[in-house]
Amino acid sequence: MVLLGPPGSGKGTQARLLEDRLGIPQISTGDIFRRAIALNTPLGIEAEKYVSRGSLVPDDLTIGLVRERLREKDAARGFILDGFPRTIPQARGVEEMAKELGWELDAVVYINVPERILLGRLVERQTCPSCGMMYHLANRPPLDEGTCDECGSSLEIREDDNEETFKKRLAVYFSQTSPLVDYYKHKSRLVDIDGSGGVEEVFKNMSAALGDRRKGFGKPIDDKSKDTGSNCQNKGELHNSR
Ligand code: ADP
Ligand code: ZN
Repeated sequence: MVLLGPPGSGKGTQARLLEDRLGIPQISTGDIFRRAIALNTPLGIEAEKYVSRGSLVPDDLTIGLVRERLREKDAARGFILDGFPRTIPQARGVEEMAKELGWELDAVVYINVPERILLGRLVERQTCPSCGMMYHLANRPPLDEGTCDECGSSLEIREDDNEETFKKRLAVYFSQTSPLVDYYKHKSRLVDIDGSGGVEEVFKNMSAALGDRRKGFGKPIDDKSKDTGSNCQNKGELHNSR
């Protein structure tokens, strides 16, 4: 499954809820880049040039990264791609991978949020640098101010969540990513969701739409395979690395 939507549309938040519900991993290219940047790996050093400016990391690099990630064991039963594909060449990359690895794309969930709402969401956003969990000071505050509910790390404001970079990200979204909405509409894969409400409300809309949709698509989901541990456990290696 793929989650598509503008920056601030709530893709990451919804992907995590879906991960719990479906028992398949969320794969966020944004999270992978941020983790690599924090750890100063060669990928991170390369990605930072783009991420910090609000531009897209080049397609070949991003596609290669996702291809590797999808070969990992936890992705064998299905996965939720969050923030990928983001360009038409990346969408073609998804098709190639599907052929190589023998799966089929169930659905592309498009989280539709009007532009005027997006900036308001971004400026009060706080993110956990360890597990990637996102909070919003007004709409979804952490239980303890400044601390991640999931893993206890100190929350941060993402380097690219400032007004200037956000406007750039939005422009990049409209020029490079929004053509994917039509692309998947033509392929009858698109599930269009109203994302302007609260987190729970959007999740309800999405679950209802997917419930109708999943019948007859892809492989059934086996609940027994669900990993019941906290999402943070295997991602917690980043504590204090910034
Ligand atoms: P948002 O959806 O809020 O913009 P993400 O965490 O998905 O946040 O992405 C943050 C940044 O990571 C992007 O602005 C971009 O620089 C980079 N990035 C993430 N996914 C991709 C992708 N599929 N292709 C290229 N760059 C990406
Ligand atoms: Zn956390």
